[in-house]
This record gives sequence, structure tokens and C-alpha cells, in this order.
Amino acid sequence: MELNVGDALKQPGKAFLAILEEAVKPQCYGGRQIEFLTPVRLELTYSYDGGALTLSGRLNMMLSSRCARCDELFAEEFDIPFSERFVKSASADDGSYVFEGEKLELITAVMDNIFLNLPIKSVCNETCKGLCPVCGCNLNLNTCTCNQGED
Ligand SMILES: [Zn+2]
Ligand SMILES: [Zn+2]
Repeated sequence: MELNVGDALKQPGKAFLAILEEAVKPQCYGGRQIEFLTPVRLELTYSYDGGALTLSGRLNMMLSSRCARCDELFAEEFDIPFSERFVKSASADDGSYVFEGEKLELITAVMDNIFLNLPIKSVCNETCKGLCPVCGCNLNLNTCTCNQGED
């Protein structure tokens, strides 16, 4: 995911707009498999202040998530803010990302932001009934008799 910042470097203080998209392969993070159903889309403004490039915008994508209640896979929209600084390599001492020349490779920053903001628990639907604690069937799809004999 590459951003050409030649225009911004030539005109410090001026804000520019860009929309970038990139298809991302499935990733593994913290023991979790992250699968992307759509390309990762980044809509951002960027500007140069004479020393650093400041980027800010939003990341949007559809993920294949596993429901914490019923254990089924479902498509989950994931939309998070994106805000990062890029500095020339010589001055990268504060945890900022580095750029050289007029091209910014954004995929590392983008993936870092996605990983850090992943929901801890995803639920396919607010009304998801989950699994029966006795027989384990999916109560959204089935009706079991586990709780009926107790009355
Ligand atoms: Zn569910
Ligand atoms: Zn049951």
C-alpha cells in the first residue's frame, strides 16, 4: 500500500487527500486467524510540516470473524481511525514510522493499527442465541429439548 507524497513534500502545510486499497492475505495475530473478505481501504488526508508527514483518516474492511456465542463465521465490518507520523530515517527516534524519497509504504502501519484495534469479542448478531450449554447445538438454527424436561 504505497502513497506518493511528492506533492506534499513540495508544498509544506498543505493537506492532500488519498484513497488507497490493498488486498491482504490472511494474517495470524495472537493465536487468532484474521481473514479479510474485502481489500483494506484507507481514506486519508496527509500533510508535511517541513520535518514529518502527518497522516490521518480511516481504515475500513470486512473481516471474517468467529462469533463468540455461536462459534459460526460471519462477515464483520471493521472501521477504525488511522493516525500516524512518518519521519525521514535519520530522525526516527520517537517510534514514528520512517520514509525515504517520495513514497510511503503504509502496509506495516496499517497492519499495526488493525491488530491493535481488533475487537476482543465479535458477535454475529445482538440477538444471537449462542450454543446450548448441554448439547452444544446452535440455538439460532435448532431447537433442542435439553431445557424442556426440567419443568
Ligand atoms: Zn452468533
Ligand atoms: Zn441442547
